[in-house]
Amino acid sequence: MSKLRFSSIKESNNRNRIAIEENGRRSELFGINVFNEDKMLQFLTREAYDRVKGAIYSGSKIDRKIADQVAEGMKAWAITMGATHYTHWFQPLTGATAEKHDAFFDLLPDGKALEKFGGGQLVQQEPDASSFPHGGIRNTFEARGYTAWDPTSPAFIYGSTLCIPTIFVSYTGEALDNKAPLLRALSAVDEAATAVAKYFDKNVSKVNATLGWEQEYFLVDKALAYSRPDILLTGRTLVGNSAAKGQQLDDHYFGVIPSRVLSFMSDLEKECTKLGIPVKTRHNEVAPNQFELAPVFEEANLAVDHNLLLMDVMEKIADKHSFRVLFHEKPFAGINGSGKHNNWSLATDTGVNLLSPGSTPMKNLQFLTFFINTIKAVDTYEELLRSSIASASNDHRLGANEAPPAIFSIFIGKQLSDVLDELEGVSQGKLSPEEKTELKLNVVGKIPEILLDNTDRNRTSPFAFTGNKFEMRGVGSKSNCAKPMTILNTIVAKQLIAFKKEVDALIDKKNLKKDEAVFNVLREYIKTSKKIRFEGDGYSEEWEKEAKRRKLSNNKSTPQALQILTSKESLALLKSMNVMSEVEVRARQEVELEAYILHLQIEGRMYNEIVYNYLIPAAITYQNKLIKNVMGLKDIYGAAHKTFTEGQLSIIENIAENISALKKKTDAMTEARKSANVLTDVNKKAFAYCDNVRPYFEEIRIHCDKLERLVDDQLWPLTKYRELLFIK
Ligand code: ADP
Ligand code: MG
Repeated sequence: MSKLRFSSIKESNNRNRIAIEENGRRSELFGINVFNEDKMLQFLTREAYDRVKGAIYSGSKIDRKIADQVAEGMKAWAITMGATHYTHWFQPLTGATAEKHDAFFDLLPDGKALEKFGGGQLVQQEPDASSFPHGGIRNTFEARGYTAWDPTSPAFIYGSTLCIPTIFVSYTGEALDNKAPLLRALSAVDEAATAVAKYFDKNVSKVNATLGWEQEYFLVDKALAYSRPDILLTGRTLVGNSAAKGQQLDDHYFGVIPSRVLSFMSDLEKECTKLGIPVKTRHNEVAPNQFELAPVFEEANLAVDHNLLLMDVMEKIADKHSFRVLFHEKPFAGINGSGKHNNWSLATDTGVNLLSPGSTPMKNLQFLTFFINTIKAVDTYEELLRSSIASASNDHRLGANEAPPAIFSIFIGKQLSDVLDELEGVSQGKLSPEEKTELKLNVVGKIPEILLDNTDRNRTSPFAFTGNKFEMRGVGSKSNCAKPMTILNTIVAKQLIAFKKEVDALIDKKNLKKDEAVFNVLREYIKTSKKIRFEGDGYSEEWEKEAKRRKLSNNKSTPQALQILTSKESLALLKSMNVMSEVEVRARQEVELEAYILHLQIEGRMYNEIVYNYLIPAAITYQNKLIKNVMGLKDIYGAAHKTFTEGQLSIIENIAENISALKKKTDAMTEARKSANVLTDVNKKAFAYCDNVRPYFEEIRIHCDKLERLVDDQLWPLTKYRELLFIK
């Protein structure tokens, strides 16, 4: 009998729910662990407060004297909160977050303790970061990078540590993280969108990109998760026969949340609330043991930080409740995977959502401007946007039989499609008074009414307009939203700059009125961005064919998807928008390819271990049991035994066939890995893993799962899907 599996089941069956006290209102808890405005007012001088606000608002620099004052205030607050350490909290290219804790105090030569945290420590830190991925940017002889304070994301206390959000850059100034390029992209979109928003309202002086992510995840009992070597090392089940019951009854989606899970969620939400993460909704997802959590949207940089922090907090709270949280995009075959929809929009400092229609024709023209420019941007750069969500684990969703497809398209709904069709008919150049009235009253003017009853939602679309925001659905549940947000905001910025130029040219050279010029440019954009618009079933084969005809990219694997990063156009775009230099882009591409290789390598090794050390031995044990039985029957019945042993013999043979196939395929996979490993070119190596190694995984799995169906349950060593997914 498999000891670990059964003792884990027993352990998980004996768990009790941890009661979570709901003391006090959530709104009172909100942000108590964050160095937010209230605390700044309390702990900073007025001058320091104003300067930090200035940095947040307009990116102005904070000099050393002020930094010292801020550090002093932050420390004073942190110590009253019981913090003993501080850390720069950053986002290296591993995709996770990193931190290096330092105590607030130092020892003086005479042995006395001195509290030490000044502007220097706040503004900059030098983690010994030589083992973070850097894609060749840092050679070992200049292996240092440094972290630098990002005042736009407030410091917070986590456990007993003051965490200071920072960017991570090399000494030569290149970004070694995901935050620095995001901040540059956000600044680019701010500048470009503000200039365009001023057409409609002179008072706009800043535009923030907003992000509301929806985090999907699985919860598995800790003992059960740890009993699976594949979950432990790869975050997913590499093998496992589907349980008799999966999600076919749709009885989990939005169902009653199991009580142990509810305790976990309450605890998690309380912790998030204290950390200033505005968590709002929680519910069961489609697959058994799958859940979702969504916050109120925020400024994109802050939202990204909050998502990363959330994932960290989730792991800790899950552990406390004896769960393991799985962020992998496809932890279980045969049931839904997990994603992280990125809801995105643009908001002005005057409080207007630029993707929300308004009450006047002018406001709606503004809406149409940002709406159509976004469509145009995605149309031009769909392949680059696709590359921003590529990863080994997300390949199981994109381009596999899982939502959404690897082809980017935009869904806007019938009503808005009709509006765009009408706008396509706008006259060239000057508009007659009649045409203007008609446009204002019957096309542009009707938009708010249209959107009110815009209930049609296409769940198969990877990039859908949902009333007052776009929803990017292909983002992986595990990934850092900074990557897609960097690209999306960059391409929209680029597009808005081009738009402004064209409109200004029509106003200056063709003497058109502003609204006429806007209509004229939008009309052309509608015409030239049609290929990205698709209202049908994004999962269908017809769409794949149609998308090919439209020349949309369909990169199903990560290595394929990443190629576009270093195309001439991508490099020029990222450079011209000051988001990433060529060196930074190339480094990132290399890091991503490297990560892809490593993930597949680990999975390959794990398959090897599971096949040789777990499943073949179990199959042989059961086979021997059958053989003994057959021999016993033969002893008793002699030649007549055949009537009684036919079934056993067929199982014995079936097991033998699967063992033999497993061995052959696993060995062939190992050989393919060996050939891939000797390749020195990272791109070639990634393709070798993708094309020559990865296909074996599925083949190996088929035989493993067949054996699971054949072998005595008592002898099966790996915790089964039924147990992983239904014990809670
Ligand atoms: P669903 O898409 O599941 O129907 P909602 O429409 O309520 O749910 O929104 C989902 C997410 O979109 C939430 O995280 C919400 O905060 C976010 N969201 C709503 N408006 C915006 C916006 N203007 N910008 C960015 N995110 C937004
Ligand atoms: Mg949604």
